[in-house]
Amino acid sequence: MKTSVVGFPRIGKNRELKFASEKFFKGEISEAELQEVARTIRRENILAQNNAGVDLISSNDFSFYDNVLDTAFLFNIVPARYRELNVSPLAKYFAAARGLQDEQNNVKALAMKKWFNTNYHYIVPEFEDDTKISLVGTKPVDEYLEAKALGVNTKVQIVGPFTFLKLTKFVGSKRAEDVAGALTAEYGKLFKELASNGATLVQVDEPYLVRDLDAADIALFKRIYGELLGHKNGLKVLLQTYFGDIRDVYGDVVALDFDAIGLDFFEGIRTLQLVKTNGFPKDKVLVAGLVCGKNIWKNNYANTASIIKELEGITGDSEKLIIGTSCSLLHVPYTLESETKLPAEYKKHFAFAYEKLAELVTLADLKEEDLAENKALFKNRPDSEDSAVRARVAALKDSDYTRLPAFEEREAIQKKKLGLPLFPTTTIGSFPQTADVRKNRSDFKKGNISVKEYVEFNQKKIRECIALQEELGLDVLVHGEFERNDMVEYFGENLSGYVFTEKAWVLSYGTRCVKPPIIWGDVSRKKPITVEWSKFAAGCTDKPVKGMLTGPVTILNWSFPREDITIKESVLQIALAIRDEVLDLEANGIGIIQIDEAALREKLPLRKSDWYSEYLDFAIPAFRLVHSGVKPETQIHTHMCYSEFTDIIPAIDSMDADVITFEASRSDLQILDALKENNFKTEVGPGVYDIHSPRVPSVDELVGQLTKIREKTQDSKLWVNPDCGLKTRGEEETVKSLKNLVAAARIIRDNK
Ligand code: GLN
Ligand code: ZN
Repeated sequence: MKTSVVGFPRIGKNRELKFASEKFFKGEISEAELQEVARTIRRENILAQNNAGVDLISSNDFSFYDNVLDTAFLFNIVPARYRELNVSPLAKYFAAARGLQDEQNNVKALAMKKWFNTNYHYIVPEFEDDTKISLVGTKPVDEYLEAKALGVNTKVQIVGPFTFLKLTKFVGSKRAEDVAGALTAEYGKLFKELASNGATLVQVDEPYLVRDLDAADIALFKRIYGELLGHKNGLKVLLQTYFGDIRDVYGDVVALDFDAIGLDFFEGIRTLQLVKTNGFPKDKVLVAGLVCGKNIWKNNYANTASIIKELEGITGDSEKLIIGTSCSLLHVPYTLESETKLPAEYKKHFAFAYEKLAELVTLADLKEEDLAENKALFKNRPDSEDSAVRARVAALKDSDYTRLPAFEEREAIQKKKLGLPLFPTTTIGSFPQTADVRKNRSDFKKGNISVKEYVEFNQKKIRECIALQEELGLDVLVHGEFERNDMVEYFGENLSGYVFTEKAWVLSYGTRCVKPPIIWGDVSRKKPITVEWSKFAAGCTDKPVKGMLTGPVTILNWSFPREDITIKESVLQIALAIRDEVLDLEANGIGIIQIDEAALREKLPLRKSDWYSEYLDFAIPAFRLVHSGVKPETQIHTHMCYSEFTDIIPAIDSMDADVITFEASRSDLQILDALKENNFKTEVGPGVYDIHSPRVPSVDELVGQLTKIREKTQDSKLWVNPDCGLKTRGEEETVKSLKNLVAAARIIRDNK
């Protein structure tokens, strides 16, 4: 049997692309040097897959920032404000991705959103009415030829036109339906180009097909492919779907002239049933996504082998069945080889991208001894159960999920106690993680400095950070999070039940990565985690200091979860651990506590019908469990990123926090209309500027933004803050931006 990999991580084993890009942005290396780093990564990726014996390997899965943005640039779907910049093509691309501010230019970045149900973020293309769709780029062809020169005839991966149009924002009067014909024609030209350069197979990625589709969506999909597949130009076309099953269009998909169809048997809970009930056309190849592209666990060979057997019965011909990854391996780390500290008895249960290549090849021709070894592995998992934790979860009662008194009563009590001005200003928690801050942590980790030195350094940073915030005139201060590498890994490291990696980085956006910790066993908190830092910060000022925690849903969603107990059970265990921390902070005099749920929306099922039953019905109560034990005067904040939560506003409100801050500056302010319509009770801090870009917003701009926000919110409920933590920003731009933020808040306060 042959094997196929949807796509491969692109950051480099040691995050080479991240470091090179950062140097390039600082002007420390040239574009040619950056290109060379990229070429090396692509070469290593292709060769690693080829050497592992994978048959179908993707090219064009590389990107400097994002593949959706690449596709937009490929077809000239670029807003005029970037197209007309007087800079190099790569600089235009980066301007759209991250904004550009220098002496001549001042443009914001395009919006960024979560890629389906992953923690990867794509850039949202914007379609203006005068956009002229045209195949102007050569990236897919170039990268195909580059791989070919290495002796590998790759399949060319490309974001499919249907998914592309569904993810694009139409800012003028035109709609996807109006431009689908023109876009399809240009994809046809791309196919022709690829074919004339020797390509034989293209993989069109259409993950949008796993969402709930309405009649208009299905009509659009059929129209696009009815047309495009008439212009294959001799290429074979693989329709690749992932992150779920395609129950709404299975019949339509198999009826179209695709040569191969890639289905996800991992997250696609109905995929097997769809294939069994409806059959699979004899003239097509089924690429069965059986090795999960998202988890880090070893594949269960016995399960997989039994599905393969069923599928062979359906396709009737082993030539017509290929086994593949369930989605791109972009969502898993590179390799276990880089993990030197993970104990062997744990390590053998994991598979990262490289190891998944080996699994695919092993599964394609499964030997008895491999199967036996794999079965033994699943039988002998090192112990992961903690009976005290299990008992605590089992004893939870309904009242544990309800905070008293009700919101309105608390709001009045808190306003009185805190005495904050109208439009209180605050930040989301972290301050710039400068080189000295990172060095302090890594020196401590390596044992180069003592606990005392480590703590004293952080205390000095906290003192400075508090002084800075006082000087800036912020109202609710933070300690700055200098002790944290990452908002989830930090808590993972301090909770039992976790295991850690050294280099298991996964791409989050652009070239930024996260290193999710792994939940191995039952989770609990053995001792206070953040209390000493918060207490120290509070002792440096008379102003209120917010305690800063990560919520259970985000901890779970940004960890690699276990697969031997349910997600619901895991999240309740974590909630109880964080609840202990909340109560300790309160007992130590911290009167405002922020519990970040940056990733709350992330695991929302892609199909609406599953939202509550499969997720929100346990995620929201888990959050409530964390804070239901605090006193009425303790103010609970939460924070969410990329908050496309317009459609789950009642659920967000029922988290029952006192204040929510969220990202709003990159997207329009539509969310505020929705809050109003839903009578949102929680106080709100819609981020007034984008912290993902180094650009400094002017006072005027911020006043303008706040004026717009005020039209849609109640003054008494409005907070003023950036849209996320400042840890990725430089100190200089941070100080300037916050100064302007405070000035803007004062202006609107004074004009009241
Ligand atoms: N408190 C965190 C910080 O400020 C929140 C980060 C996030 O939402 N991603 O960094
Ligand atoms: Zn955030």
